[in-house]
Amino acid sequence: MFVPMKQVLDMAYAGRYGVPAVPAHNEILVRASIEAAVEANSPLIFLTSNRGNPEFSHGIVRYFAEQAGIPVALCLDHSPTFEDCVMGIRTGCSAIMADRSVLPYEQNVEQVLILAKMAHAAGVSIEAELGHVGQGSNYAVDGVSQLTDPEEAKRFIAETGVDGLAVAIGTAHGTYSGVPKLDFGRLQEINAACGLPLVLHGGSGSGDENIHKACTMGVAKVNIVTDVLAANVQAAVNGDFTGNAGHRFYPSLLEATKKCVLRLFEITGSTGKYKGGAGSLIASDKASTEEK
Ligand SMILES: [Zn+2]
Repeated sequence: MFVPMKQVLDMAYAGRYGVPAVPAHNEILVRASIEAAVEANSPLIFLTSNRGNPEFSHGIVRYFAEQAGIPVALCLDHSPTFEDCVMGIRTGCSAIMADRSVLPYEQNVEQVLILAKMAHAAGVSIEAELGHVGQGSNYAVDGVSQLTDPEEAKRFIAETGVDGLAVAIGTAHGTYSGVPKLDFGRLQEINAACGLPLVLHGGSGSGDENIHKACTMGVAKVNIVTDVLAANVQAAVNGDFTGNAGHRFYPSLLEATKKCVLRLFEITGSTGKYKGGAGSLIASDKASTEEK
């Protein structure tokens, strides 16, 4: 079932577990991740960055989500402008991530407040970011700079009405150039001050134990993109798809994605957490996977 992201965040926050937010770049990723979620009885969140043909790719998420008996949300990731946020709402996302984290606090509040009113009026959830999560390739600087201040976070939530807050506690986007160090003391203070679902960006390569621990301390959504894509790359590089084995190429990517996402549910603690009834399985497309 396709649901507003707030529904998934609130369930996870109350249950003290996290939900992986994974890439929705193509049909294989979407289909495999939903199959994994159904098998694990876990809620699921997709991230989209598609600005080229969003109606098409967001339609794929909705198509498969509506066949599944588990809650699935779709979040427009790092939306930088007013127009882009409207595009996300208009093309069927169930959440927007309004990233104004590079702006001064007052401007961040001013813009997110307007977007929150607009999103909520359309039945869409909203996530914002306070502090700034940088790039793993520049981790020595980005990993430790602009961490989220707990009291400022509390004020920000009260002033904007967001449904989830991305916090900077030492993770970074992409592949790390150094060893990530998470500031759990800060996370604890932020959670105590805010009482709202928190979001961790840059989950890939952050360490299974770190992620698991963060998910018991108020983090309800963990963005993990690079690791899922890496699992696909590995399957493509390591497989032999010569000749008729070419028919196995896409099924092998599907299997690799599914295996990776099932593991992510274990790490964030969401396996078996959806109690709303058995998830229905998507009818598998046997015809396209058979060798001819
Ligand atoms: Zn991010």
